Amino acid sequence: MNENQLNNLAENIREEGYNPATSGTDLVYDPASGEFRTVPRGYSPSNGETVTKFTEGGFASESGHVMVYLREDELKSAEEALGSAEEVPAYVEEIDSDEVFHIHFQPEIKKLPGELRLPGFCTRDRNAINGLSHSSLRFCVLLTEDGPEVWYRLRPLKSRQWAQAEAFIVPSEENLFSRSKGILEVDILRDKRVLVIGLGSFGSQISIELAKAGVGHFALMDFDRVELHNLSRHTATIHDLGRLKTNVIEEAILGKNPYAKVEKFPVNINEDLPLLYEEVEKADLVICATDNNTSRFNISGALVEKGKVGIFGRAITRAEGGDVFRYRPGGPCYCCVVGAGNLQEEEISDVASARRDGRIAAYVSAEDAEAMVQVGLSSDIEPICNLMVKLALVELSRGKESGISSLEEELTYDCYLWANRRDRHYANWKPFPAAGQLPSILRWYGVKVNKDEHCPICSGNIVLDDGEEEINAMASNIDLNQ
Ligand SMILES: [Zn+2]
Repeated sequence: MNENQLNNLAENIREEGYNPATSGTDLVYDPASGEFRTVPRGYSPSNGETVTKFTEGGFASESGHVMVYLREDELKSAEEALGSAEEVPAYVEEIDSDEVFHIHFQPEIKKLPGELRLPGFCTRDRNAINGLSHSSLRFCVLLTEDGPEVWYRLRPLKSRQWAQAEAFIVPSEENLFSRSKGILEVDILRDKRVLVIGLGSFGSQISIELAKAGVGHFALMDFDRVELHNLSRHTATIHDLGRLKTNVIEEAILGKNPYAKVEKFPVNINEDLPLLYEEVEKADLVICATDNNTSRFNISGALVEKGKVGIFGRAITRAEGGDVFRYRPGGPCYCCVVGAGNLQEEEISDVASARRDGRIAAYVSAEDAEAMVQVGLSSDIEPICNLMVKLALVELSRGKESGISSLEEELTYDCYLWANRRDRHYANWKPFPAAGQLPSILRWYGVKVNKDEHCPICSGNIVLDDGEEEINAMASNIDLNQ
């Protein structure tokens, strides 16, 4: 390297910053000698043309190695904008350094993480990537008759030719869930609005599953923030600590379906019943995933008054088991099943919320309260969430022909019972292979529920008591013919 080249390199480093990715070796083709030679990465050779990097993967690996993703709907809007302009700006999100990029034309609708944006532009003019203009721009989306081409320059810009990246198109809304077609009525689900109340270990998973199924509208209610103890069962990650669960789940939903509409209500529904009733009225289906009976009774009241379908799910202590209840207008309500004023021996997963609703009395010390936290495993919660999702999809597509229509005949009970292990409540249950006509763990059982004529919510018969008696009563009601 001569002095001039060294100065060039030093200038580049000052200008671009030292970048280990550009500190390797480039290959230069010298047409005079007909040979390649290596040069330090990052300076312009005085003769010859830089063609590629010399990498572990081989010198030819650079071209086509850069992958770029574009959204079909955003491309259409860029095309329209090019009707009246030479160029439109592009916003490039670097996902994995110098390898994977996502290009957007509407940054304001993009709510995903990864805010690092590199400048780019979109044009129909092929000369734009041949000329010396756009000295600071790194990406060019070239719209051609045959579809979009994406061209890029890696750092430093001065010495870089434009190279073509491999471009992938993310389909627009109507085609995003085309793989589910035939199993799910994606067109119907897209117009459905689901209200999810409680975004803990149940509500977070169910929301995301429904987004994956193509549900298009969500209303999310929870005033809690992500805490360290949530991580073992929640979909939130360590990067979400301290954030409102409504924001975390909105992001997760949009990560699955960027076209979903999400409304967020970080409020305590027990303190804002008018809002609860209003949102229940707007919803096609309500998922009740709160962790206490006060809110479940409030939600039950709203469902009965507004005539909406609701799906309730919960785990009992340490997620030994759990149950799922589905309310359909005219049928028995949640209160009919558990009886008014009965505090279930349910899981205490969070001291603060258990204190608020009285499951942990005010006089219990902080230390003793902490010892009462009895969470189960995420894998013990999953089966319960899964049945709630299936019931939700059945209800949202009810009456329409689809691959899951047959489940309407399958899932006819109001209440379902699940046990994860033969412990405490289920200690006398028999091991699965020898259970015969007796209940065993890891199987769903339908529970027959009657309306309670004296129910304070729907005035319909308490047939089940809580605690041990409830479990025994449920076991005796189990229909083994299903
Ligand atoms: Zn009732």
